[in-house]
Amino acid sequence: MNIAPEVLELVPEMKAWRRHLHAHPETAFDEKQTSAFVVEKLRSFGLEVHGGLAKTGVVGVLRGGRDAAVGLRADMDALQILERSGVPHASLHQGKMHACGHDGHTVMLLGAAAALARRRSLCGTAYFIFQPAEENEGGGRVMVEEGLFERFPMRAVYGMHNWPRKPLGTFATRAGPLMGAYDVFEIVVTGKGAHAAMAYTGKDPMLFAAHTISALQTIVARNLHPLDAGVVSVTQVHGGDTWNVIPQEVVLRGTVRAYKREVQDLIEERMRSIVAGVAATFDMTATLRYERRYPATVNSEAETRHAIAAAAAVVGSDNVDTDPTPEMTGEDFAFMLQAKPGCYAWLGTGRGPDTPNVHSPQYDFNDDALAIGASYWVALAEQQLGTQTA
Ligand SMILES: [Zn+2]
Ligand SMILES: [Zn+2]
Repeated sequence: MNIAPEVLELVPEMKAWRRHLHAHPETAFDEKQTSAFVVEKLRSFGLEVHGGLAKTGVVGVLRGGRDAAVGLRADMDALQILERSGVPHASLHQGKMHACGHDGHTVMLLGAAAALARRRSLCGTAYFIFQPAEENEGGGRVMVEEGLFERFPMRAVYGMHNWPRKPLGTFATRAGPLMGAYDVFEIVVTGKGAHAAMAYTGKDPMLFAAHTISALQTIVARNLHPLDAGVVSVTQVHGGDTWNVIPQEVVLRGTVRAYKREVQDLIEERMRSIVAGVAATFDMTATLRYERRYPATVNSEAETRHAIAAAAAVVGSDNVDTDPTPEMTGEDFAFMLQAKPGCYAWLGTGRGPDTPNVHSPQYDFNDDALAIGASYWVALAEQQLGTQTA
């Protein structure tokens, strides 16, 4: 393991920062204390600091003499989960939790900014991008729309996520799609409420729900090319209040994942046909609202090679998986990758097969990964921007 000496010195402080942030989680666009914490730290390292992008986003700038510039991005938001980790630094904000490790991401990028500022060796400019609202609300998209890349011109942008399903001390990334597009849908069906014992007098929307949930599963099984990937999951069924009443209305909600836009189009089109068809079959009305949230996360070739080289410089090439199986989880770093070339990498943080995964109420970021992730950022910035010896 090749940990930058400036990072190694910072490990006790980084752990304290991480536990402070973990205890004070804030959700999408409400990361006010987190943002203030980041601003205060970046200023204390002597960086130029710009706040207020996408409400709570922050960009720290470490300027070098040459024109070259790259962006390194961390997300800062927490989730609406009741924490059950049992750790001493557990959430003090009831119902909110850093269950995706964005506390760790924020601290690794702060650690790298501090280490690079201390070294004063970068020839080009590093932009440290602290993004709000990665979960569900697309803070990454808002930052891009608000002119992130016009205000801070850069050649490429890099992202990283902790991955408890891969062992500590490893990295994984690949060129091309690494994570899926994230769409959501809502189906509202209106039948006719009735006494449940006199069902023939009504139109039962529960029946529509049962048939539709099954029929939607035929899209991936029977309409999609077997080598194209897609997932259709119905995750909510809302309807009915008591034992003996057929309700008037049922609402189904869920999510669709895919790598290709054509597959999203196909799934949406088939969903519309199925919903209309089942509604017609049972003589009721149904609407489908289909919303595209995040595109697929697609890494560019050259930047992926750079990311792999930086990861290998820290953990050794044997510990960098350059052909991991992509996942269908969504990531709003995808919006930055649509605007700029770049690479998103997974940082292994697993302590064995029982390590709670991200989004679990038992999850806690693995602090042993802080120095590894921060050293990766340092290696990547130095490799991309060049260094001068003092
Ligand atoms: Zn997450
Ligand atoms: Zn996350």
